[in-house]
Amino acid sequence: MTTPPLLLLADRHAARVAALEKHVAREATAPLRGQLVELNRQALRSFVAAAGGIGAGLGGAALAAYLADLGGRIQGLTAAPNAVLLDTAGQAAALGQRQANQAVQAQGGAPAPLSPPLLDAGVIAAVGAVAGTVAARLLRGRQEVIALGQGPGGPGGQRQVSWGQVASALTVAHSAATSIHTTATWVVHRQRAASVAQQTAEAGGRLLWIVEHGGCAYCQAMAGRVASAETGFQASSRFGLRPLDPWPPGSMVLPPNHPHCRCIAVPYLGGDGPQDLPGRLRRQAAQYLGSPTSGTDVPAAVRNRARRISARYAMAQHHQRLGSQEQRRHVAAGLMSTASQQVP
Ligand SMILES: [Zn+2]
Repeated sequence: MTTPPLLLLADRHAARVAALEKHVAREATAPLRGQLVELNRQALRSFVAAAGGIGAGLGGAALAAYLADLGGRIQGLTAAPNAVLLDTAGQAAALGQRQANQAVQAQGGAPAPLSPPLLDAGVIAAVGAVAGTVAARLLRGRQEVIALGQGPGGPGGQRQVSWGQVASALTVAHSAATSIHTTATWVVHRQRAASVAQQTAEAGGRLLWIVEHGGCAYCQAMAGRVASAETGFQASSRFGLRPLDPWPPGSMVLPPNHPHCRCIAVPYLGGDGPQDLPGRLRRQAAQYLGSPTSGTDVPAAVRNRARRISARYAMAQHHQRLGSQEQRRHVAAGLMSTASQQVP
Protein backbone atom coordinates (compact mmCIF):
# COMPACT_ATOMS: atom_id res chain seq x y z
CA MET A 1 0.00 0.00 0.00
CA THR A 2 1.39 3.45 -0.86
CA THR A 3 2.00 5.95 1.89
CA PRO A 4 -0.65 8.71 1.89
CA PRO A 5 0.80 12.15 0.98
CA LEU A 6 -0.24 13.61 4.36
CA LEU A 7 1.84 10.95 6.17
CA LEU A 8 4.87 11.73 4.00
CA LEU A 9 4.46 15.42 4.77
CA ALA A 10 4.04 14.65 8.49
CA ASP A 11 7.32 12.70 8.38
CA ARG A 12 9.12 15.66 6.84
CA HIS A 13 7.58 17.97 9.42
CA ALA A 14 8.62 15.68 12.28
CA ALA A 15 12.19 15.65 10.95
CA ARG A 16 12.23 19.46 10.88
CA VAL A 17 10.89 19.60 14.47
CA ALA A 18 13.60 17.14 15.55
CA ALA A 19 16.28 19.32 13.95
CA LEU A 20 14.98 22.42 15.75
CA GLU A 21 14.79 20.46 19.01
CA LYS A 22 18.46 19.43 18.76
CA HIS A 23 19.57 22.92 17.81
CA VAL A 24 17.77 24.78 20.60
CA ALA A 25 18.54 22.18 23.25
CA ARG A 26 22.23 22.62 22.51
CA GLU A 27 21.91 26.40 22.49
CA ALA A 28 19.97 26.50 25.78
CA THR A 29 22.29 24.15 27.68
CA ALA A 30 25.63 25.32 26.22
CA PRO A 31 26.39 28.09 28.76
CA LEU A 32 25.89 25.84 31.80
CA ARG A 33 27.51 22.81 30.16
CA GLY A 34 30.57 24.92 29.38
CA GLN A 35 30.87 25.92 33.04
CA LEU A 36 30.39 22.32 34.18
CA VAL A 37 33.10 21.05 31.86
CA GLU A 38 35.45 23.72 33.20
CA LEU A 39 34.42 22.82 36.79
CA ASN A 40 35.32 19.17 36.17
CA ARG A 41 38.66 20.12 34.62
CA GLN A 42 39.58 22.36 37.56
CA ALA A 43 38.32 19.85 40.11
CA LEU A 44 40.51 17.12 38.61
CA ARG A 45 43.54 19.39 38.36
CA SER A 46 43.31 20.52 41.98
CA PHE A 47 42.59 16.95 43.16
CA VAL A 48 45.78 15.70 41.48
CA ALA A 49 47.72 18.64 42.92
CA ALA A 50 46.43 17.97 46.46
CA ALA A 51 46.53 14.16 46.43
CA GLY A 52 49.66 13.72 44.37
CA GLY A 53 48.03 11.72 41.56
CA ILE A 54 44.70 10.69 40.06
CA GLY A 55 44.85 7.22 41.64
CA ALA A 56 45.66 8.54 45.11
CA GLY A 57 43.21 9.23 47.95
CA LEU A 58 42.67 12.57 49.61
CA GLY A 59 41.96 12.87 53.32
CA GLY A 60 42.26 15.02 56.43
CA ALA A 61 42.67 18.79 56.24
CA ALA A 62 43.62 18.64 52.55
CA LEU A 63 40.28 16.96 51.79
CA ALA A 64 38.37 19.57 53.82
CA ALA A 65 40.07 22.41 51.95
CA TYR A 66 39.53 20.72 48.59
CA LEU A 67 35.80 20.11 49.19
CA ALA A 68 35.24 23.64 50.49
CA ASP A 69 36.85 25.03 47.34
CA LEU A 70 34.84 22.72 45.06
CA GLY A 71 31.58 23.53 46.86
CA GLY A 72 32.30 27.23 46.37
CA ARG A 73 32.91 26.68 42.66
CA ILE A 74 29.56 24.90 42.27
CA GLN A 75 27.88 27.76 44.11
CA GLY A 76 29.45 30.11 41.57
CA LEU A 77 27.84 28.38 38.57
CA THR A 78 25.18 30.45 36.86
CA ALA A 79 22.35 29.57 34.51
CA ALA A 80 19.74 31.90 33.06
CA PRO A 81 18.10 29.88 30.29
CA ASN A 82 14.75 31.70 30.26
CA ALA A 83 15.48 34.13 27.42
CA VAL A 84 16.85 31.37 25.18
CA LEU A 85 13.90 29.13 26.00
CA LEU A 86 11.36 31.84 25.19
CA ASP A 87 13.20 32.49 21.93
CA THR A 88 13.04 28.75 21.34
CA ALA A 89 9.28 28.83 21.86
CA GLY A 90 9.03 31.66 19.32
CA GLN A 91 10.92 29.61 16.73
CA ALA A 92 8.75 26.57 17.41
CA ALA A 93 5.59 28.69 17.10
CA ALA A 94 6.67 30.05 13.71
CA LEU A 95 7.55 26.52 12.56
CA GLY A 96 4.16 25.20 13.71
CA GLN A 97 2.28 27.91 11.86
CA ARG A 98 4.19 27.30 8.62
CA GLN A 99 3.81 23.52 8.88
CA ALA A 100 0.08 23.79 9.58
CA ASN A 101 -0.40 25.96 6.50
CA GLN A 102 1.61 23.53 4.35
CA ALA A 103 -0.51 20.60 5.51
CA VAL A 104 -3.76 22.49 4.94
CA GLN A 105 -2.62 23.44 1.44
CA ALA A 106 -1.47 19.89 0.70
CA GLN A 107 -5.06 18.77 1.35
CA GLY A 108 -6.50 21.41 -0.96
CA GLY A 109 -7.57 23.72 1.88
CA ALA A 110 -7.09 27.46 2.23
CA PRO A 111 -4.45 28.30 4.86
CA ALA A 112 -5.20 31.00 7.41
CA PRO A 113 -3.05 34.16 7.33
CA LEU A 114 -0.07 34.17 9.69
CA SER A 115 -0.59 36.24 12.82
CA PRO A 116 1.83 36.90 15.69
CA PRO A 117 1.92 33.56 17.53
CA LEU A 118 0.52 33.21 21.03
CA LEU A 119 2.78 31.35 23.41
CA ASP A 120 1.18 28.34 25.04
CA ALA A 121 0.45 28.75 28.76
CA GLY A 122 2.14 25.44 29.60
CA VAL A 123 5.24 26.58 27.74
CA ILE A 124 5.34 29.88 29.63
CA ALA A 125 4.93 27.99 32.92
CA ALA A 126 7.68 25.49 32.03
CA VAL A 127 10.10 28.27 31.15
CA GLY A 128 9.21 30.06 34.38
CA ALA A 129 9.89 26.92 36.42
CA VAL A 130 13.19 25.83 34.89
CA ALA A 131 15.50 28.28 36.68
CA GLY A 132 14.22 27.00 40.04
CA THR A 133 14.81 23.38 39.02
CA VAL A 134 18.35 24.19 37.86
CA ALA A 135 19.14 26.01 41.11
CA ALA A 136 17.79 23.09 43.17
CA ARG A 137 19.93 20.59 41.27
CA LEU A 138 23.07 22.69 41.64
CA LEU A 139 22.38 23.00 45.36
CA ARG A 140 21.99 19.22 45.61
CA GLY A 141 25.23 18.80 43.67
CA ARG A 142 27.00 21.02 46.16
CA GLN A 143 25.51 19.06 49.08
CA GLU A 144 26.74 15.80 47.51
CA VAL A 145 30.24 17.19 47.28
CA ILE A 146 30.20 18.45 50.86
CA ALA A 147 28.82 15.08 52.04
CA LEU A 148 32.03 13.44 50.77
CA GLY A 149 33.85 14.96 53.72
CA GLN A 150 31.26 13.95 56.31
CA GLY A 151 30.66 10.76 58.21
CA PRO A 152 33.06 8.61 60.21
CA GLY A 153 36.68 9.23 59.44
CA GLY A 154 35.96 12.55 57.68
CA PRO A 155 38.38 15.46 57.61
CA GLY A 156 40.57 15.18 60.68
CA GLY A 157 40.04 11.40 60.65
CA GLN A 158 41.50 8.70 58.45
CA ARG A 159 38.90 8.89 55.65
CA GLN A 160 40.25 8.93 52.10
CA VAL A 161 38.25 10.10 49.10
CA SER A 162 39.11 9.02 45.56
CA TRP A 163 38.74 11.06 42.37
CA GLY A 164 36.07 8.56 41.27
CA GLN A 165 33.94 9.55 44.29
CA VAL A 166 34.39 13.24 43.53
CA ALA A 167 33.50 12.74 39.86
CA SER A 168 30.42 10.77 40.85
CA ALA A 169 29.27 13.52 43.25
CA LEU A 170 29.73 16.06 40.45
CA THR A 171 27.28 14.21 38.17
CA VAL A 172 24.47 15.54 40.37
CA ALA A 173 25.47 19.10 39.43
CA HIS A 174 25.60 18.01 35.78
CA SER A 175 21.94 17.00 35.96
CA ALA A 176 21.12 20.73 36.19
CA ALA A 177 22.08 21.04 32.50
CA THR A 178 19.93 18.01 31.70
CA SER A 179 16.88 19.72 33.17
CA ILE A 180 17.41 22.68 30.82
CA HIS A 181 17.77 20.24 27.93
CA THR A 182 14.54 18.44 28.83
CA THR A 183 12.62 21.69 29.13
CA ALA A 184 13.99 22.98 25.82
CA THR A 185 12.88 19.89 23.91
CA TRP A 186 9.50 19.85 25.63
CA VAL A 187 9.00 23.54 24.78
CA VAL A 188 9.72 22.91 21.09
CA HIS A 189 7.17 20.11 20.82
CA ARG A 190 4.50 21.71 22.97
CA GLN A 191 4.72 25.12 21.33
CA ARG A 192 4.84 23.69 17.83
CA ALA A 193 1.70 21.64 18.57
CA ALA A 194 -0.10 24.62 20.12
CA SER A 195 0.68 26.79 17.09
CA VAL A 196 -0.39 24.06 14.66
CA ALA A 197 -3.67 23.82 16.57
CA GLN A 198 -4.18 27.57 16.53
CA GLN A 199 -3.43 27.85 12.82
CA THR A 200 -5.58 24.81 12.02
CA ALA A 201 -8.52 26.21 13.98
CA GLU A 202 -8.26 29.44 12.03
CA ALA A 203 -8.28 27.48 8.77
CA GLY A 204 -11.38 25.59 9.93
CA GLY A 205 -9.68 22.18 10.09
CA ARG A 206 -9.38 19.49 12.73
CA LEU A 207 -6.29 17.76 14.14
CA LEU A 208 -5.01 14.25 13.51
CA TRP A 209 -2.64 12.57 16.02
CA ILE A 210 0.33 10.84 14.38
CA VAL A 211 2.34 8.68 16.78
CA GLU A 212 6.14 8.73 16.63
CA HIS A 213 7.76 5.57 15.25
CA GLY A 214 7.88 3.01 18.06
CA GLY A 215 5.87 5.29 20.37
CA CYS A 216 4.83 4.05 23.81
CA ALA A 217 1.49 2.47 24.70
CA TYR A 218 0.07 5.76 25.96
CA CYS A 219 0.80 7.47 22.66
CA GLN A 220 -0.30 4.53 20.51
CA ALA A 221 -3.71 4.92 22.16
CA MET A 222 -3.90 8.39 20.61
CA ALA A 223 -3.00 7.16 17.10
CA GLY A 224 -5.34 8.29 14.36
CA ARG A 225 -7.59 10.24 16.69
CA VAL A 226 -9.18 13.28 15.14
CA ALA A 227 -10.01 16.19 17.43
CA SER A 228 -11.25 19.74 17.35
CA ALA A 229 -8.30 22.10 16.88
CA GLU A 230 -9.88 24.40 19.45
CA THR A 231 -10.08 21.88 22.29
CA GLY A 232 -7.34 19.35 21.55
CA PHE A 233 -7.55 15.59 22.13
CA GLN A 234 -9.31 13.80 24.93
CA ALA A 235 -6.61 12.17 27.05
CA SER A 236 -8.57 9.14 28.25
CA SER A 237 -8.94 5.73 26.55
CA ARG A 238 -5.68 3.85 26.89
CA PHE A 239 -4.71 0.42 25.68
CA GLY A 240 -5.81 -1.24 28.88
CA LEU A 241 -3.24 0.69 30.89
CA ARG A 242 -4.08 3.20 33.55
CA PRO A 243 -4.49 6.77 32.26
CA LEU A 244 -1.44 9.00 32.23
CA ASP A 245 -1.42 10.49 35.73
CA PRO A 246 -0.99 14.19 34.90
CA TRP A 247 -4.22 14.25 32.97
CA PRO A 248 -7.37 14.05 35.11
CA PRO A 249 -10.39 12.29 33.53
CA GLY A 250 -11.78 14.37 30.70
CA SER A 251 -8.52 16.28 30.14
CA MET A 252 -7.78 17.65 26.74
CA VAL A 253 -4.22 17.24 25.50
CA LEU A 254 -1.93 17.96 22.59
CA PRO A 255 1.40 16.30 21.82
CA PRO A 256 3.79 15.95 23.58
CA ASN A 257 1.82 13.48 25.67
CA HIS A 258 4.69 13.32 28.17
CA PRO A 259 8.14 14.98 28.40
CA HIS A 260 9.88 12.67 25.91
CA CYS A 261 6.98 12.20 23.50
CA ARG A 262 7.77 12.90 19.84
CA CYS A 263 4.25 12.50 18.44
CA ILE A 264 2.88 15.25 16.24
CA ALA A 265 -0.56 16.62 15.43
CA VAL A 266 -1.31 17.64 11.85
CA PRO A 267 -4.26 19.51 10.35
CA TYR A 268 -6.77 17.07 8.90
CA LEU A 269 -9.47 18.19 6.50
CA GLY A 270 -11.03 14.77 6.26
CA GLY A 271 -10.92 14.53 2.48
CA ASP A 272 -8.95 11.32 2.07
CA GLY A 273 -12.07 9.18 1.40
CA PRO A 274 -11.29 5.48 0.98
CA GLN A 275 -7.74 6.00 2.23
CA ASP A 276 -9.27 6.62 5.67
CA LEU A 277 -6.03 7.80 7.21
CA PRO A 278 -7.33 7.95 10.84
CA GLY A 279 -8.63 4.38 10.60
CA ARG A 280 -5.38 3.21 9.07
CA LEU A 281 -3.32 4.80 11.85
CA ARG A 282 -5.56 3.26 14.52
CA ARG A 283 -5.29 -0.20 12.94
CA GLN A 284 -1.50 0.13 12.76
CA ALA A 285 -1.37 1.05 16.45
CA ALA A 286 -3.66 -1.84 17.38
CA GLN A 287 -1.44 -4.25 15.43
CA TYR A 288 1.65 -2.81 17.07
CA LEU A 289 0.27 -3.26 20.56
CA GLY A 290 -1.57 -6.51 20.00
CA SER A 291 -5.03 -5.41 20.97
CA PRO A 292 -6.76 -2.08 21.52
CA THR A 293 -8.72 -3.33 24.51
CA SER A 294 -6.54 -5.70 26.48
CA GLY A 295 -3.59 -4.58 28.56
CA THR A 296 -2.38 -8.17 28.83
CA ASP A 297 -1.71 -8.29 25.08
CA VAL A 298 0.62 -5.29 25.17
CA PRO A 299 4.15 -6.47 24.32
CA ALA A 300 6.55 -6.36 27.26
CA ALA A 301 8.85 -3.88 25.51
CA VAL A 302 5.99 -1.44 25.08
CA ARG A 303 4.80 -1.95 28.66
CA ASN A 304 8.33 -1.25 29.85
CA ARG A 305 8.50 1.94 27.83
CA ALA A 306 5.20 2.98 29.37
CA ARG A 307 6.61 2.28 32.85
CA ARG A 308 9.66 4.41 32.13
CA ILE A 309 7.35 7.22 31.16
CA SER A 310 5.56 6.94 34.46
CA ALA A 311 8.89 7.74 36.13
CA ARG A 312 8.81 11.05 34.28
CA TYR A 313 5.29 11.95 35.37
CA ALA A 314 6.45 14.49 37.89
CA MET A 315 7.63 17.03 35.37
CA ALA A 316 4.55 16.87 33.18
CA GLN A 317 2.39 17.05 36.27
CA HIS A 318 4.25 20.12 37.40
CA HIS A 319 3.82 21.81 34.02
CA GLN A 320 0.16 20.92 33.91
CA ARG A 321 -0.42 22.40 37.37
CA LEU A 322 1.40 25.61 36.54
CA GLY A 323 -0.32 25.66 33.16
CA SER A 324 -3.76 25.56 34.73
CA GLN A 325 -2.94 28.61 36.83
CA GLU A 326 -1.97 30.50 33.68
CA GLN A 327 -4.70 29.29 31.39
CA ARG A 328 -7.27 31.93 32.18
CA ARG A 329 -4.86 34.56 30.92
CA HIS A 330 -3.87 32.92 27.65
CA VAL A 331 -6.03 32.02 24.71
CA ALA A 332 -3.72 29.16 23.76
CA ALA A 333 -4.41 27.59 27.13
CA GLY A 334 -7.84 26.50 25.93
CA LEU A 335 -5.89 23.51 24.55
CA MET A 336 -5.01 22.37 28.04
CA SER A 337 -8.45 22.89 29.52
CA THR A 338 -9.81 20.15 31.69
CA ALA A 339 -13.36 20.63 30.44
CA SER A 340 -14.89 17.28 29.59
CA GLN A 341 -15.70 17.17 25.90
CA GLN A 342 -16.56 14.44 23.48
CA VAL A 343 -14.05 14.07 20.67
CA PRO A 344 -15.02 11.82 17.78
ZN1 LIG B 1 3.94 10.43 21.92
